[in-house]
Order: sequence, then C-alpha cells, then structure tokens
Amino acid sequence: MNERQDMLRSLPAIDRVLREKSLQDLSQQLPHEILSQAVQELIASLRQEILETGETISPERLQPANIAATAALNCRQILQPSLRKVINATGTLLHTNLGRAPLSAQSLRAINNVAAGYSNLEFELDNGCRGERYSHVESLLTQLTGAEAALVVNNNSGAVLLALTALGKGREAIVSRGELVEIGGAFRIPEVMEAGGVILREVGASNRTHLHDYQQAINENTSLLLKVHTSNYRIVGFTKEVAAAELLPLARENDLILMEDLGSGLLLDLSGYGLEREPTVPEVVKAGVDVITFSGDKLLGGPQAGIIVGRADLIEKLRKHPLARALRIDKLTLAALESTLRLYLQPEQALQEIPVLNMFTAAPEQQQQRCQKLFEQLDSAALAADIELVADASRVGGGAMPLTELADWAVAINPHSGSTADLAKRLRTYSPAVVTRVHNDRLLVNLRAVFADEEALLAQILIAVLKTEG
Ligand SMILES: *Cc1c(COP(=O)(O)O)cnc(C)c1O
Repeated sequence: MNERQDMLRSLPAIDRVLREKSLQDLSQQLPHEILSQAVQELIASLRQEILETGETISPERLQPANIAATAALNCRQILQPSLRKVINATGTLLHTNLGRAPLSAQSLRAINNVAAGYSNLEFELDNGCRGERYSHVESLLTQLTGAEAALVVNNNSGAVLLALTALGKGREAIVSRGELVEIGGAFRIPEVMEAGGVILREVGASNRTHLHDYQQAINENTSLLLKVHTSNYRIVGFTKEVAAAELLPLARENDLILMEDLGSGLLLDLSGYGLEREPTVPEVVKAGVDVITFSGDKLLGGPQAGIIVGRADLIEKLRKHPLARALRIDKLTLAALESTLRLYLQPEQALQEIPVLNMFTAAPEQQQQRCQKLFEQLDSAALAADIELVADASRVGGGAMPLTELADWAVAINPHSGSTADLAKRLRTYSPAVVTRVHNDRLLVNLRAVFADEEALLAQILIAVLKTEG
C-alpha cells in the first residue's frame, strides 16, 4: 500500500516532463497543447497501471526523461504523412487499395508544371477569352477513339451517373440482368440509376439475355439501352449476351440512345501480351455506340478520371448538365490525363512510358531474372528463413479482367521463427511500406508491380526486417 502511494507520489508533474530536451526539440514543430496532452496521457496511463495492477513499476519508467522520450515518439507520428508511398509486391497491378495506376514521368512533370503556378485552365491564350477546361483533352480523345466528342469528369462512377441523369431522367433504361454489376461495394448499377432518377427495366436472366428480350421491353417511355461491362466477374457455361453491335439496329429503329459503360476502357489491344481480348474503345465507337464511359486509372494507366466519348449532341447535353459542374475534373488530374493520352499517340511510347502498360507487357523471362536476382541477394544474406524462387501469377486487379493471370515468378519466404503474418505486418509498417501476399503460409514477393528503381531498396528492407525477425 505504502509502496503504491510512493509510486504515485513519484509520478512527475507535466510541466517538469515538458522541460525535457526531447520535447523541447519538438516545440518548434508542434503546438504546446499537443505535446502537453501527450504527456498527460502517458502520466494518466502510468497512474492507472499503478492503481490497477499494484505491481511495482521500475523507477526508470517514472523518470521525466523517459516519459518525455515516449511522448516525443508519439508526437512525431503526428508529423508523419498519413497517405504515403508503398512498394507493391503483391503482383496485382491495378490494386484498388494501393491507388490503382501509378503515373508516368510525363504526367508527374505535367502536374508539377500546372500545380506550382497559374495555368490556362479555362483561358484561351490566343484571344484572351474565357475557355473550357475540357478543351485540353477533347481533341486528343476524339483522335484516339474516333468519337465525335468527349468529356471528362472526376471518375467513371460520376461519368455513368452524369450520362444516365442527363439522358434518361424520369424515363426507362433497359439493362440485361447479367450486367447489373456491383463495383467496390458502393457502385451498383441499379442504385446509380435510382440516384439518377432513371427507371431500371431489367431484361433476360442472369446467364442469358436475347435480342428479343430487349425488343419486348421497349415502350414509349424507354430512353436508353444500356450495356455494362461485367468488369469484375464472368458468367461462364450456358450463357448469352447481346453485343452492342447487335443492339444498334434496335436502338436506331426505336430512336433510343445506346450507351455502354466499359469500365476499364482499353485504348490498345493488349491480348498479344496475355491479357484477355476485349473490345477497345475505338472498336466500340466504330460499332456505333452513342455514349461510352470508362475510367482513367484502370487499364488506361492514367489518373482517376471518368471519360465519356460519343455523339456530339449527347455529349453537349452532358456538358451543360448541372451535375457536370459538381463532378468536374480538377486541373492536376487534367494535366495528368492530357499527358497520358498524348503518350497514346505513339502506341510504342505508351507501352514503354505508361507504368501499368509497361508492367503488363513485361516478359515472364524478364520477371524471372529480376526474381532470381532478389533471391540470390536474400539467399547470400544468411537469413533465418527458407527462401525459394517459385512460379507465381500476376493479376490485373482494379476489378478488371478477373480471369487473366499473367505467368510470373515470386520469391517465397518462410521465416524460421515468428509467423508469416507477423513478417507481412513488419514489412507493411516499415518505411517505406512493403505490401506482399501470404499464400499457404509463405510470404510471396512478386516484382511485376515493383519499379526497377525500387528493387535495391526492397532487397535492403527484406534483409533488414528478416535480420530482426523473431
Ligand atoms: C470500375 C468501374 C466503374 C467505376 O469506375 P471508377 O472510375 O472507379 O469510379 C464503373 N463501371 C464499371 C463497369 C467499372 O468497371
């Protein structure tokens, strides 16, 4: 009892702790209240420990210098950015949780140029008149896709919402039951339609929809035929879907708008590189679809954006709709998008310079060599772990091409002590963070989404973390 009272009495005063050098050093960077609160919390928790456990607390822990050092450590966390760089060793290229597509060097330069000062965002330099922000990408988009007109907004969900609202509000849109997709939880086609005031008319069955299903559903209140890319799932087996090209005559006969939400939106055919064959945006435009929407940060490899291409009269309606203003693209995104699109003018250059395209098209032998090198570095570091070079598969991710697996390699690590999950956590909480995959109780390090200039650092981090494991 007496001992407990002694310990309570030896808890230092807050002001005394605040005078310690480790906290004084921080006083230039953080306000007094934050430092003071951190000390208060530590002293309160020590007091509680003394009262509740009744166990002896070592006198060192009660010393002002030690309490100050812990408080300073906690306070320094506040100075760390929350959103920060991650090395993606998962083998998933468009990892939604890791920020989808990394940007090209050209895009970073473009952002830098525009962000640091003023720009001609909505200003025509020729005549000094007010201009349109969309003008910076519209002609690139029409050139690259063959469409009459184009518009860009904040993301593809916004693009779909804008198009449906502006073109179909209060009227019916016909969609196949096999295409009522949900993307990433909050984006569901039926709910987006409801939000846009469009009446959903479902036709067909989950696995099979025929042209006559669409035909029978058409009435005087129909405004749209909507096709939605089943980005993140596939219906296999006894299936039938009606391609946009087959729907076109029906749309024309009945004076309806044919719209297709492509999701990813490929500008180049990548099937020669082991990716699924999918209609590219220019092919869909050529097929005669009136309005096409797709993302900027999926297979296109640019910034988060929603791209809408199609018939000039319809795009004009979208441009004038109040929602367009609410969903408008910001200047940094626009700079990144314009520079990304410009790279596509030369397909070879796009494949080389756009990070995700470069990663998708990397040859398996090249990946094997990179993994072999990492394997040798780890193997020769005499770590307390079993290290192996194993065959692996990379994925597209971002809810695109769910069946595509790119032949690949990985370094598998099995620590001698401590769990694999714990090792994965230590890598995630390292600075910079490293995100890996755990499969069959082994940690897999896949290099497909790791940049060449991150390789040496990744090896160093793995060695450092494994040396301190267990
Ligand atoms: C990804 C996707 C969306 C949503 O696009 P965001 O750019 O993530 O808003 C909408 N429709 C389809 C078919 C998609 O694949």
